[in-house]
Amino acid sequence: MIRVQAVAPDSLGAALGLVPGTELLAINGRPLEDFLDWEFLTADDVFLLHARHPSGEEVEYDVERPEGLPMGVSVEPPRIRRCANHCDFCFVDGNPAGARDVLYIRDDDYRLSFRYGNFATLTNLKPWDVARILEYRLSPLYVSVHATDPVVRRWLLRNPEAPAIVPQLQAFLEQGITFHTQIVLVPGVNDGPELERSLADLWSLGPGILSVSIVPVALTEYSKHALVREPTRDECRAALGVAGAFARRARSERGHPWCIGADDLYLQAGLDLPPAEWYGDFEQRENGVGAVRYLQTRIAAELGRLGGQAGRRVAVLTGRAMGPLMPQVIEPLARATGARFEIVTLDNALFGRSVTTAGLLPGAAFRDALRGRRDLDLALLPAEAVNDDLLFMDDMSLEDLAGQVPMPIRLSADFTDALALDEVAA
Ligand code: SF4
Repeated sequence: MIRVQAVAPDSLGAALGLVPGTELLAINGRPLEDFLDWEFLTADDVFLLHARHPSGEEVEYDVERPEGLPMGVSVEPPRIRRCANHCDFCFVDGNPAGARDVLYIRDDDYRLSFRYGNFATLTNLKPWDVARILEYRLSPLYVSVHATDPVVRRWLLRNPEAPAIVPQLQAFLEQGITFHTQIVLVPGVNDGPELERSLADLWSLGPGILSVSIVPVALTEYSKHALVREPTRDECRAALGVAGAFARRARSERGHPWCIGADDLYLQAGLDLPPAEWYGDFEQRENGVGAVRYLQTRIAAELGRLGGQAGRRVAVLTGRAMGPLMPQVIEPLARATGARFEIVTLDNALFGRSVTTAGLLPGAAFRDALRGRRDLDLALLPAEAVNDDLLFMDDMSLEDLAGQVPMPIRLSADFTDALALDEVAA
């Protein structure tokens, strides 16, 4: 059973009388487990829906969908599938007390992998899950491979039951399911020859492995430092060397680089990022792979829409990772608008200084940086620092923050979105 969360007006769901709280029991006699069942089984034009209204009344609807009329029903989020692994580098162990509740959940859910691009390990799949992936054609999936050697992978995942990943991927590939994959680089475990082997194995699986990203392991002050460490500059360079060899081969044989280092890997190696073309359609940008070049591409495309904002004082707040890269990102904006941008790079007091990504900054960090700044006309905050309920990592709300700082604040994904709002308002 799944429960209706919201119904759009002028939708088929509203016409049927579905309301928040209605329980959706079955389609064509097939019980509903989650949003996947709902979306796939209602894709037909004709189906039988069995529902229970909040009053307790059960109704069977013979649905004939008028052409072009959406169902307009969103359902409550699924119960998250828990992870079967215990990685030494797990971000959950790296969380301090006081972060959002959701950050303490070890999720490993192929459904979220398909829908949102979350990485899953596929170590907790039941036969029923495999059947659903194949039936609903859940492709591409995003998979954390880490190492193709079963022993090394089990060590990294701290899961002696983890199935061998190569045969597992192979079986799905034969059925037409494709994958974006990642290798979290743990020095001394899956770098060097292990990295070469993993890339060779993934390459040999064919073009259904759409991409491989190499991401340096990220730790916080709370992580298990006795068991795992971050790679050195030389280790990052060595990994990029291995990745580069595969990328050159992939470009010549498959027309795209295929094996791509995360932005962080380049930063930690002290090397320039590759050009935007390197990242194709930026499929792994949410994973920090090509995120900077994607940002620059978006800004370049939107610059023409921004009017003059000469003399305006705008603060751009970000984490330590993006701080050094921001001047080259902001420079075209300053040129196009005449505004005076100030890049404010923040430490992460919640997770520790080693956590440098903007998306994990707590609300308190923004508040502390901005509350004495009466010289600013506007502050732009990274959109990814809040969740759907507009809460920061420390559960401070965006509204609370706005009430504690002296200038307007705006969330921004690429700066042009927030600056263009002024054009609308003008
Ligand atoms: S796969 Fe590893 S890092 Fe991911 S949630 Fe599970 S234990 Fe944590």
